[in-house]
Amino acid sequence: MALIVQKFGGSSVADAERIMNVADIITDTYKKGNDVIVVVSAQGDTTDDLIKKAKEINQDPSKREMDVLLSSGEQISIALLAMAIEKLGYPVVSLLGWQAGFNTNSTYGAARIKKIKTDRLINEIGRKNIVIVAGFQGLCKYDDVTTLGRGGSDSSAVAIAAALHADRCQIFTDVEGVYTADPRKVKNVSRLDEITYDEMLELATLGAQVLNNRSVEIAKKYNVKLEVLSSITRVPGTIVREAVKMEKMFIRGVTKDTNVARISLIEVPDVPGIAFKIFSRLAAKKINVDIILQSVGRDNTKDIAFTVSKDNAADAVALFEGSDLLKGAKIKCDTDIAKVSVVGAGMESHPGTAATMFEALFNVDINIQMISTSEIKISVLIDKDEADKAVAAVHAAFFPEE
Ligand code: ASP
Ligand code: MG
Repeated sequence: MALIVQKFGGSSVADAERIMNVADIITDTYKKGNDVIVVVSAQGDTTDDLIKKAKEINQDPSKREMDVLLSSGEQISIALLAMAIEKLGYPVVSLLGWQAGFNTNSTYGAARIKKIKTDRLINEIGRKNIVIVAGFQGLCKYDDVTTLGRGGSDSSAVAIAAALHADRCQIFTDVEGVYTADPRKVKNVSRLDEITYDEMLELATLGAQVLNNRSVEIAKKYNVKLEVLSSITRVPGTIVREAVKMEKMFIRGVTKDTNVARISLIEVPDVPGIAFKIFSRLAAKKINVDIILQSVGRDNTKDIAFTVSKDNAADAVALFEGSDLLKGAKIKCDTDIAKVSVVGAGMESHPGTAATMFEALFNVDINIQMISTSEIKISVLIDKDEADKAVAAVHAAFFPEE
């Protein structure tokens, strides 16, 4: 007997039929003698729809009220899923985030899980209930409901698995695991049997939409054995785990991320400390910066450009507009761009990875605007309209058809 945490995303519980299908997977696991805790997201596009509803009333609602609104999506899906399991004749209880013991900090809209008080969860499992938990939400020290940021239910699931030392955390989705590129968009992709936490973290951060990156961080920190698999076809998926004895693959995958904005600060004073001041302002606002490029100085000025996620673009621009710090520098914000990346722990020992990638882009006539690298990834910034073409070309260069 094992303790298994299962997470089902919005598309897996989109309608009554999908909910019954999920109930079937859950009760199958339970029937085999396992304890099962399930985390669900809001159905289908519910969260997006709720955001639209809010904007119809107030363009700039407080983050607190947004959390009250958005957390309702998961409240609907846990109740419906519990009813489906009741119908199949199994003992079940649904719990909101706070009932399941999720304590978070008070960063509304992007809260961090601080702790899970596991008493209630342990109690319910002890009573042999299947437990259905609302993902993406918790309670902060002011007793307010918080949400964990888009895609946060993955983190809810992994955090429960970590807190209860679950034997496995299964993330069910609408594809059969982690692929070398998005199987819905790119031809000739292959599914990976396994991948390391670090590689998965890069892929998730760089736009592969199978797992939320924060959840991979938690899984790595607490060594949670993760499996990404399909809720439609019942076949083994991709295991995410520590690198021990795993074959180092040269390239694990190619991703694109269109949720990027480039902020260019043009003709800022070329003096010591300017970069420090610019980036500490961004840090103070908790704005995450990715690629940074600084030009060579000329006439005592230089240009500094960096990328942030699109939702942070307006806040980032506002930090510098009319600011004394930049002494009249021009500010430009570009959102018609995309980041395409290759990830693989093997590139460390393979010279020429960058050249292969850049050649593939050159062959399809795509101009690279910015580049950034780490030990296990290379990212380029390109025109957004060319992103799919770029992914296909780069994927074909690293995974030639056999
Ligand atoms: N429903 C939330 C969202 O759409 C959380 C999740 O899906 O993980 O972002
Ligand atoms: Mg969702």
